[in-house]
Amino acid sequence: MRLRDDFLHILAPALCPGCDQLLMPAEHGYCLACRASLSPAPFPRDLFTELLHHFSEDHLAISALGALYLFEQESPVQNLIHALKYQGCYDLGVELGKELGATIKMFPEFDGVDAIIPVPIHRARRRERGYNQAEAIATGIADAFPMEILNDRLYRSRHTISQTTLSATERQRNVQNAFAAHDKSLAGRTILLCDDVCTTGATLNICADRLLFAGAKRVVAAAVAKDLVSNPNAAQHHLPTQQFFP
Ligand SMILES: [Zn+2]
Repeated sequence: MRLRDDFLHILAPALCPGCDQLLMPAEHGYCLACRASLSPAPFPRDLFTELLHHFSEDHLAISALGALYLFEQESPVQNLIHALKYQGCYDLGVELGKELGATIKMFPEFDGVDAIIPVPIHRARRRERGYNQAEAIATGIADAFPMEILNDRLYRSRHTISQTTLSATERQRNVQNAFAAHDKSLAGRTILLCDDVCTTGATLNICADRLLFAGAKRVVAAAVAKDLVSNPNAAQHHLPTQQFFP
C-alpha cells in the first residue's frame, strides 16, 4: 500500500488544500507547514465566555465548547474549510477531526463524554455534496478520542438560508425549527456535538437543545474553526490561545 501511495504521488502529486504547496507522502490531509502556522483557537473556558455574548445563560444548551483553529478570512484555514465542504475532501475532514479530538480530550470540560453526534446537513445538500463534512470530522475525533458515533439521532428537518450575513439574533431565528431529534434513547448520555465552523454557536446550541429534550444528560460541542469576527466584544488578541498546540 505504501509503495502504491508513493507511486501515485509521483504520477499525480497532491496539493495541500490549505496553501497549495506539494503534499509529501507522509503528510495526510493538509501539510505540516499549515499545521504549524494556523492560529490555535482560544481555550474552552474562553470560548464559553464568548458564547455568553450571544446567549443568556438560561438559553445556552451547550455546557462547553472546544475548537482547533481560529477562523480567519483569506487564510489557509478558510481554504481548508472550503475544500472540506465544496471540493470533496472527506479525508481532510477526518484529519482535522483527529487534531480536534487530540486537542479537546486534554480539557476537563470534555471528561465523561460517551458519544459524538455530527451536526446534520439537509438531505438535499448531502446529495449534492456526497457526504456530511461534520461526519468526517466526527470520524477523526473518535479516532483520537474513542467514543461511539451516533449519526442517526439528529436530523435537519428544514433547509435554512446561509448564515454568513446574519446577525446573532437572526442566526438563532434561522435555525430555530431546523433540527429534530429522532427518539428519546439518549437518556443519561453525555454527547459531544461537532461541526466544521462555529460563529455565534446558534446551530450547535439549537442542536444541543434538541438533544437535551431527547434525554441527553449534558451536551458539549467542538468545531474545527471558531470565527470570532462577528463579535465586536471579543477581539482576538484579548483571548489567550492554546499554548500546547502540536
Ligand atoms: Zn499547507
